[in-house]
Amino acid sequence: MENTDYYFLQGGGEMGELIRSIDWSQTSLGPVDTWPQSLRLSTSIMLSTPFPMYIAWGKEYTQLYNDGYRPILGKTKHPQAMGISTRQTFAEIYHIVGPMFDDVMTGKAIWAPDFMYVLERNGYPEECFFDFAYSPIHNEDGTIGGVLVTVIEKTENFKNVKRLEESHQALKNSENNLKNLVAHAPAAMAVFGGPDHIVEVANAKALELWNRTANEVMNRPLVEGMPEIKDQGIEDILANVYTTGERFIANELPVKLIRNGKLQTTYINFVYEALRGAADTIYGIVAIGIEVTQQVVSRHRIEEAEERARLAVEAADIGTFDFNIQEDHLITSPRLNEIMNIHEPEDHDKYLASIYPEDIPVRNKAYEEAYKTGKLSYEVRVKDGSRVKWVQAKGNVYYDAAGKPSRILGIMLDVTDQKNLEKRKDDFISIASHELKTPVTTLKASLQMLYKMKDNPTEKFPRLLEQSLRSMHKISTLIEELLNVNRIKEAELPLHKSVFTISELLNGSCNHISLTGKHDLMIAGDKGLKAYADERAIDQVVVNLVNNAVKYAPESRNIYLIVERSGDMAKISVRDNGPGIPPDKLAYLFNRYYQVNSAGYLSSGLGLGLYISSEIVKRHGGEMGVESELGKGSTFWFTLPLE
Ligand code: ADP
Repeated sequence: MENTDYYFLQGGGEMGELIRSIDWSQTSLGPVDTWPQSLRLSTSIMLSTPFPMYIAWGKEYTQLYNDGYRPILGKTKHPQAMGISTRQTFAEIYHIVGPMFDDVMTGKAIWAPDFMYVLERNGYPEECFFDFAYSPIHNEDGTIGGVLVTVIEKTENFKNVKRLEESHQALKNSENNLKNLVAHAPAAMAVFGGPDHIVEVANAKALELWNRTANEVMNRPLVEGMPEIKDQGIEDILANVYTTGERFIANELPVKLIRNGKLQTTYINFVYEALRGAADTIYGIVAIGIEVTQQVVSRHRIEEAEERARLAVEAADIGTFDFNIQEDHLITSPRLNEIMNIHEPEDHDKYLASIYPEDIPVRNKAYEEAYKTGKLSYEVRVKDGSRVKWVQAKGNVYYDAAGKPSRILGIMLDVTDQKNLEKRKDDFISIASHELKTPVTTLKASLQMLYKMKDNPTEKFPRLLEQSLRSMHKISTLIEELLNVNRIKEAELPLHKSVFTISELLNGSCNHISLTGKHDLMIAGDKGLKAYADERAIDQVVVNLVNNAVKYAPESRNIYLIVERSGDMAKISVRDNGPGIPPDKLAYLFNRYYQVNSAGYLSSGLGLGLYISSEIVKRHGGEMGVESELGKGSTFWFTLPLE
């Protein structure tokens, strides 16, 4: 009989075909027609069921299996498994399977759910799970011929479960990570749920920022827990993010929050980002923020300090420089360039070139000193056309890590005026002492002679007395002038104002000059004009102007005193036909201690007359000025308020 003819080898799909193709006489089962009835029956059942079944027959546990079982053998065990021993096919697990089969052969049935074998069926060890039953196949004589295995492989299920478990764990881990991250983030983080922005999550930093405990804010609408943010625009921002999903980024947004029990402006950088759920609907907002108040406030302070420093530098007309010593690179402010008479920023040499060559050693010595002491300070002269300009420099030296001077930050000032004033003061002192010395010497001589003739006066007596009085008068005038300067400086010149006719005052003040007979005083103009002023002080002004005309225009026969109306003021001018004053000196005439020709001081005063006069006029609300042309004469004028 052919294999195909046996009723018990019919059907069975692929495995049926394989079984039928095998020459069983070559196997331990022997020719098919010698197979016992029990083997025939179980083979027939096996081949006709789609469930995975496997028979291990006889002492060798020779294998037969169906299409349902086939996948359990993987890539490497089939087809050679058909008709050979379990011992061979499942060598890797035989130490487990073998004893169980042996048990079955004694009549026991074994059943196991979720049993794991590590199989080598695809070229690598693989954990495989099975629900199986190992049942004895009884022969007619009551002996047991083999083992019937019914099995369901559950490896895939297990893998899925495992994968599920793993992804669960991963989810848990990442949730935990996220929670940790949020809890310990250095930024404030919070989640607001729903359209009312219920505070669902708020980390420690958020509570700190809000100045609230968790109890006060959690699970309540944000504005309910923090009423102070109402009407600060925050609600609108939240509403907009919630409805549009547009992210909101704030940079240094001023927000009033409670600090030390009071509402204070804080500055916050923060982001509001919409949280989207299934179908992309927005269900909340995540907020991340950092308070930057300190940074902003200190930056504002620095900006203010810079602004103050800048204003001070500007107001004081200070030029500034930044000198990189090691690279010999100089950065200067426009004002410094102006002071140094440099029109475009130039290299260091140009700045040095504008200093008087004689003063360069002064500057160099100051630098040497500065590197040692850290402080730079010097004064040099700078070329400014025909004028001498005095410039003062001061600075701080900065050193590198090696202690070498690397940089000087400093300022420069034009101190020409101070220098000139100093010089004028020095000049003044010598002039004043000289001026005083002459009348004092004369007075002393006169008094000595008077003293000698005190018992029997000669005919010289009246002249000596008169000389003493004149000297005394000169001295007291000089002292009066000096005192006036001080009073003016201290703004202590009291004015006793009254109404008077100007021409009358002019008449009176000029009596002594007409007397000498060298000059003719001509009073012209509006003789009825009345002024409201301190008559004594104005007399002093007029006398000073007339005296100057006499002194500095000795050849001018006529001296004119003109009274006229100028707007709502009275204008009084004193005009001479003297030598006049050089135009470049005119601007300085009214300065303290100024004299056009200081070398000629022998004939002149203290350089104070015009200064005092102009101060008196200014105190009355008037103005004083001069017009002069060389060789033609000078006109000094001043104005006074009318009656
Ligand atoms: P002082 O006469 O004591 O020197 P003033 O302040 O009165 O001081 O005058 C300042 C300078 O103005 C004088 O030194 C003189 O050179 C010049 N000055 C004043 N008046 C005249 C004048 N009428 N003509 C020419 N120079 C004058």
